[in-house]
Amino acid sequence: MTKTITILGSTGSIGDSTLDILARAQAGTYKVVALTANNNAEKLAAQAVKFKADFVALANPEKAGDLKRLLSGTGIEMGVGPQALIEAASRPADFTMAAIIGAAGLEPTLAAVQQGNHIGLANKECLVCAGETFMANVKAHGATLLPVDSEHNAIFQVLESDQPAGVRRLILTASGGPFREHSHEQLKSVTRENALNHPVWSMGAKITIDSATLMNKGLELIEASYLFDRPSSDIDVIVHPQSIIHSMVEYIDGSVLAQLGSPDMRTPIAYAMGWPKRINAPVQRLDFAKLSGLTFFEPDTGKFPALRLARQALETGGQAPTVLNAANEIAVAAFLDGQIAFLDIARSVEQTLEKAAADKAFLQAPKTVEMVVAVDQAAREISREILYMTAL
Ligand code: NAD
Ligand code: MG
Repeated sequence: MTKTITILGSTGSIGDSTLDILARAQAGTYKVVALTANNNAEKLAAQAVKFKADFVALANPEKAGDLKRLLSGTGIEMGVGPQALIEAASRPADFTMAAIIGAAGLEPTLAAVQQGNHIGLANKECLVCAGETFMANVKAHGATLLPVDSEHNAIFQVLESDQPAGVRRLILTASGGPFREHSHEQLKSVTRENALNHPVWSMGAKITIDSATLMNKGLELIEASYLFDRPSSDIDVIVHPQSIIHSMVEYIDGSVLAQLGSPDMRTPIAYAMGWPKRINAPVQRLDFAKLSGLTFFEPDTGKFPALRLARQALETGGQAPTVLNAANEIAVAAFLDGQIAFLDIARSVEQTLEKAAADKAFLQAPKTVEMVVAVDQAAREISREILYMTAL
């Protein structure tokens, strides 16, 4: 039977890997319904033609002319602007890969959730900025969330095959990023290029910076809390530089179950796409005799405060995770733009959280998407003020 599939954020790293699996599948296994991108009309059009998509949506309306020209004569329908992304996500599809980066993915991903089908969730920022609202929508519309983030996919695989009632804690593994062994002094002067050079994973720019600050693990802690309905105290983080164990679950009898594999996102993507069946992924198989060793370290939250800030935001609740995510998005963009130093990222997130906490409503979690968007926008303003109006 043909499976219909939509990819939100098809031109990114997760989008590419998803299409790679599709390209290798037997003809007739998948039918592409819709693809979306932010700016890259050329890549989006080429993907749409190659995979015979019905519809494409580009977020940036200024590129409408380019997209129209590129698609002329192909019969592929197109739309531009935020509403077109919602349309792409709302067209019926058996499986939607949610792979937009950042809070920008919230509304399209929710539109897909509201169709009540299978969602491969890569866009962790959705859950961080709107955890309660997002999970309430999943429940109300009977959608099936299949985590694509490798750690959450690992935990999902373990929990699927064992008894959730006996779980003591979830253990998220972290690669530690490129600066694991740097001193605080060295961290002061790392460049954009140093930070983009991840030792294990090949990913989009924003998540690569998040991995270097350990904010990625912080966002994943919050993501895990919502996905698996566990408090912060039940979720630990351990640094495991080889990224072979993708995460673990400890049970009350002392057993620890893990999922292992090469560090290649095509494994969790294939798991989500095929679920409840397993499908082929073109990844390097693990050769245990060749593994040089698996090592583990406590994360250093003194050196990498982003992880501590994220845990605090999860424990504070209310608007804190939304503010944390928004401030981080602004700071990472500023760092990638050469405007601020590496250590300013976590520092400005902390200052944004402190300032936002003065608001009377700070401890109330936003209950609707509109409220999430308002909190997100206000936090972005505070963060910009901190970054650009005052010296850090
Ligand atoms: P990326 O930057 O490579 O791609 C992002 C995609 O989103 C692109 O298609 C881009 O066009 C689109 N996009 C960006 N801004 C947009 C906007 N404002 N409106 C609409 N579309 C927009 O990112 P990525 O590395 O593929 O990551 C995607 C998501 O998956 C992120 O949430 C990330 O945290 C998560 N994730 C990625 C990896 C990985 O290996 N890349 C691993 C785990 C989780
Ligand atoms: Mg991850």
